[in-house]
Amino acid sequence: MPGGGGGQGKMRRVVIDSQASRRGPGGPPQGQPAPKRRGGRRRKPVFEEPVEQVNVEPEVEDKTVRINSGATVKEVSESLGVPAPEVIKKLMGLGEMASLTQTLSDETIAVLVGEFDRELDLRSVADEAEEAPEAQDTDADLAERPPVVTIMGHVDHGKTSLLDAIREADVVAGEAGGITQHIGAYQVHRGDKLITFIDTPGHEAFTAMRARGAEVTDIAVIVVAADDGVMPQTEEAIDHAKAAGVPIVIAVNKIDKEGADPMRARTELAALGLQPEDWGGSTIFCDVSAKQREGLDNLLDMLLLVAEVEEFKGNPTAEASGTVIESQLDPGRGPVATLLLQRGQLKIGDAVVAGSQWGRVRAMHDYNGHRIELAELGAPVEVLGFDGVPEAGNNFRVVESDRAARTQAADRANRLKNEAIARRARLKVSFEDAFARAQEGELSSLNLILKGDVAGSVGALEDEIAKLPQSEIQVNVIHHGVGGINESDIMLASASDAIVIGFNVRPVGDSRLIADREGVEIRTYTVIYKAIEELRAAMQGLLAPDQVEEAVGTLTVRQTFKASKIGTIAGCHVDTGKVTRGAQVRLVRDGTVVYEGKIGTLRRFDDDVREVTVGMECGIVLENYADVKDDDVIEVFETKSVERELV
Ligand code: GDP
Repeated sequence: MPGGGGGQGKMRRVVIDSQASRRGPGGPPQGQPAPKRRGGRRRKPVFEEPVEQVNVEPEVEDKTVRINSGATVKEVSESLGVPAPEVIKKLMGLGEMASLTQTLSDETIAVLVGEFDRELDLRSVADEAEEAPEAQDTDADLAERPPVVTIMGHVDHGKTSLLDAIREADVVAGEAGGITQHIGAYQVHRGDKLITFIDTPGHEAFTAMRARGAEVTDIAVIVVAADDGVMPQTEEAIDHAKAAGVPIVIAVNKIDKEGADPMRARTELAALGLQPEDWGGSTIFCDVSAKQREGLDNLLDMLLLVAEVEEFKGNPTAEASGTVIESQLDPGRGPVATLLLQRGQLKIGDAVVAGSQWGRVRAMHDYNGHRIELAELGAPVEVLGFDGVPEAGNNFRVVESDRAARTQAADRANRLKNEAIARRARLKVSFEDAFARAQEGELSSLNLILKGDVAGSVGALEDEIAKLPQSEIQVNVIHHGVGGINESDIMLASASDAIVIGFNVRPVGDSRLIADREGVEIRTYTVIYKAIEELRAAMQGLLAPDQVEEAVGTLTVRQTFKASKIGTIAGCHVDTGKVTRGAQVRLVRDGTVVYEGKIGTLRRFDDDVREVTVGMECGIVLENYADVKDDDVIEVFETKSVERELV
């Protein structure tokens, strides 16, 4: 796949050698018969291997058991070849009550398998999605294919205008006759070469695809307006492109405008490590005007130059596979999906599986809206004939028959559902397991995204992180920024297996929900040394029992009143949970924490009360804080010390 993201992309497959820690320093317990233990709370490894057994002749037996993520108790028992009641009994011994058809978390499966002295090869649908298209192509099978380009940059810097300008210039030059159909991607000609452009600009869409496991983009064009220079989303876009490991080409746009200063854009980008070639660096800069159609040919030439250097290739004659880049349910035509062919050719009549959906290619249209019978390698093609709407970002591939397509899709749908249940209990990467996973060679570095209330605090945090000893595990800050933790931060974390650290900021919008769904850990702090202390502990595998924060409730400030003696009274509505007198609270304004402390007084209709629950209104005075404003959010929480669970 192109732009491989440094090889540490989506390693969802967990191979856990549950016995490793039991062996002690004396090497593997060769041929040691499986200890017969019943029930018993054997959570922790015990170093009690009898040394004299080391010489026993090894039974050559594969102890590895392959289990799907999201498996039920019944399935686990079948895979292990152990009666289900015994599995249930073992689970009870571990403090977990489970029925036969209950889906187990990955952690629980790992512990269970360890209890039965087997080694786990945990498989998830994502593994197979990645493995499947990796068919064996020899060098002779491979041919050059068009590069796939995504345009990113700050809002209003001209991403859409540039996409439109490039496309229109091509339509005018060719004989296509001005039909413009938006199917999610299009291609343009330059000499005898083709370039594929993804028609949805922006790093949000780019990273959302990556988080689904799709590495579609080969080259990122970062658009910077010459009259505006580098802006926050320019930096964000650069970080997202870097995290994906794709080459970057800079398009300095709006050079026609009065006040345009292409040199300023160069200076600012050089400061971010993107040195122009003219200045001895290695980044290609192109001056363009989307409005005046200036510099477009040069931009295309530069993209082809990058493609030539990177040698993007694919097998043009194999059965087709690739990525779903757009999909929708059309009221007249049924499910419509745009597929990008990354391998092979797609024909009318082919049976296709894409994620949990299947179909038979009934009709195909190219990006100009022309009906076609055959789609070539590298082309985006609109396909009719899917049974349901496949998800953008899913892999697709051609299989031998409709029947195979249908069963594979159904099987996958079922497993995805179970995995979603199991995933709730699982984080992709967490402070707690980072060290252990690094030791096992599963994690090459700890990726962090830092967000803070002001640039100063983010910088200070970054400086402190740089000072930490990184001999055991290397820490990379893949993105930093000022402001609340937004959806784009979460998707970048998901796509890059990163942890999000917030300093005096909170998740905004739906970020918290999305983080839960994606299995992304968010850790928020209000003092720098605490953040550093925890990070240091995590890097050494010494993270103490977690101080877990439990949300008790959230309130919105509807109105404030000044009272001369007591300060500011905030008239609040309890949106979720409840609020209690003396509770710990945090006052959040636009995603930024402005105060952390306690509730001083809690009142309802002039009476002091102990507790106010969801849906009700109340008056609150915060301890030692009077600067409360309308629409502020009050988060009520408790901190508890918890021991680590299982494993
Ligand atoms: P996006 O948000 O990055 O997709 O930006 P748009 O493509 O929507 O462009 C934002 C505004 O900048 C629009 O009003 C465009 O007409 C204008 N614009 C885009 N490119 C140019 C350009 O090359 N020159 C000038 N003068 N204006 C441009």
